[in-house]
Amino acid sequence: MGPLGRRDLVLLGGGHSHVEVLRVFGQLARQRLQRNSSSRQGLETPLEGKPVRKSGGAAGDGWGEQSEDGSGGGASAGHHLTLISRGRFTPYSGMLPGWASGFYSYSDCHIDLQRLASYAGARLVLAEATGIDTLARTVSFGGDDSKTVAAQPPVPYDVLSIDIGITPGSAVVPGADEHATPVKPIDRFVRQYEKLLERYRAAAAAAAPPGTQASGGAGRDAQGPRPVPLLQVCVVGGGAGGVELAAAVRYRLEEERRRGGWSMERASVAVSLLCRGALLPGHPPHVRRLVRQLLIQRGVEVRSGDAVTEVRSRELLLYSGERVPYDECLWCTEASPAPWLSQTGLPTDPEGFLCINEKLQSEGGPSEVFAAGDVATCSSNPRPKAGVFAVRQGPPLAQNLRSFLDGEPIRPFVPQVTVSASRAVQECRTGELNPLTAAVAENGQVPERTIQPAGALAALRTRGKSGCWAGF
Ligand SMILES: Cc1cc2nc3c(=O)[nH]c(=O)nc-3n(C[C@H](O)[C@H](O)[C@H](O)COP(=O)(O)OP(=O)(O)OC[C@H]3O[C@@H](n4cnc5c(N)ncnc54)[C@H](O)[C@@H]3O)c2cc1C
Repeated sequence: MGPLGRRDLVLLGGGHSHVEVLRVFGQLARQRLQRNSSSRQGLETPLEGKPVRKSGGAAGDGWGEQSEDGSGGGASAGHHLTLISRGRFTPYSGMLPGWASGFYSYSDCHIDLQRLASYAGARLVLAEATGIDTLARTVSFGGDDSKTVAAQPPVPYDVLSIDIGITPGSAVVPGADEHATPVKPIDRFVRQYEKLLERYRAAAAAAAPPGTQASGGAGRDAQGPRPVPLLQVCVVGGGAGGVELAAAVRYRLEEERRRGGWSMERASVAVSLLCRGALLPGHPPHVRRLVRQLLIQRGVEVRSGDAVTEVRSRELLLYSGERVPYDECLWCTEASPAPWLSQTGLPTDPEGFLCINEKLQSEGGPSEVFAAGDVATCSSNPRPKAGVFAVRQGPPLAQNLRSFLDGEPIRPFVPQVTVSASRAVQECRTGELNPLTAAVAENGQVPERTIQPAGALAALRTRGKSGCWAGF
């Protein structure tokens, strides 16, 4: 612990939960500023009793205010706050398919962590962490062969919170790491996707200069023989991310073709979605059917129930023995945590995710280590790996980090509940005591419910028969 009880809070990773933590800290800091403004005229930052200067953040819009010693007022007055992130911009991944479709710009769906850190009074360290020493209480960077070793010394912490997300598990399929483009880390995916679009534009412009053929209309494929695709894109992974991405890629490339005035005969694209099991596992059968129909209507080929066993240069090998050629392979399968986490000694579940308790604290590990988002699994309240859960963990995480820093009790958090269609119907019909009610009784908190579209529909249809639904 630093002098006079000042402590170092380190937020590792700029994921959805930490974005919320920083937002909360920034708001709290501003509230303190407002309360003290009459006696502290002229100071622009909320830090109590500290001189300030403008940090000159890149945004240059007045957010870049920080104390001279870099201590963060938002976490709790007098403590140091540091954010470590691999990149300056962090994506709001729910908008990623919209970006891939061309509906959003890069800046629409990315959060500038430099601005946010300034807002919260945090120091930003731009580096990729590769280790945590829980005895020395440091976060370290770079392996033996990394150039970042000299550039970024270990960052010490008194309290650590980890929100570094996950990456699709490409390592388990031979060749996937080498030849496929994983959808995460998203910053790398964004660069690769932009290259893919450029590649398509260049190839289409060369193959089908405007005016060489009439542009094909919507039903063109169905009427005549399919043109040989100029570009074949394979998306591997039949979860929600893969489904959205495949539809987005198809839409975007078709839009590019139309906008370029390139004929369908010479500049068509083919997009395939491949998954080893059923499409959208965990969703009710009628939802899967509807989604499959929609994908096919929109020109995406769906190959389910056949695993990709090997990725070769420009060719996928399937379990059935079939070979699928591709020009670009996008990898969107089940997620895995960063392998280096297993070296930290922090307790993990069998899949390598950090175990946390309902207070978002390492379960069975040091009490000063917290974790949230996809990288963490709470055995008492397990939820799918999804941004909606990471976001909602942010405010309670902020609260608990502040309390922990100040030596005050920390509180449990009950995440919102995802309700499937079948369960929605069942619970509505029976009015049974469900986990929501139990959680309220136990913790005095009302968890909100995230209801899948089909679940919402079913609940709406049957709601009148029971009064048990709340929170949506
Ligand atoms: C195509 C697609 C669409 C999706 N759509 C939705 C949706 O609509 N709704 C939904 O709920 N979920 C959606 N998801 C899932 C969602 O992306 C994740 O659940 C969410 O991003 C998890 O947030 P997180 O806070 O755990 O981490 P992330 O958002 O992944 O953020 C992790 C951050 O930590 C940084 N980082 C990682 N490693 C390090 C390191 N070693 N050192 C320093 N920094 C590091 C990263 O750069 C990143 O900024 C989608 C996913 C994909 C792939």
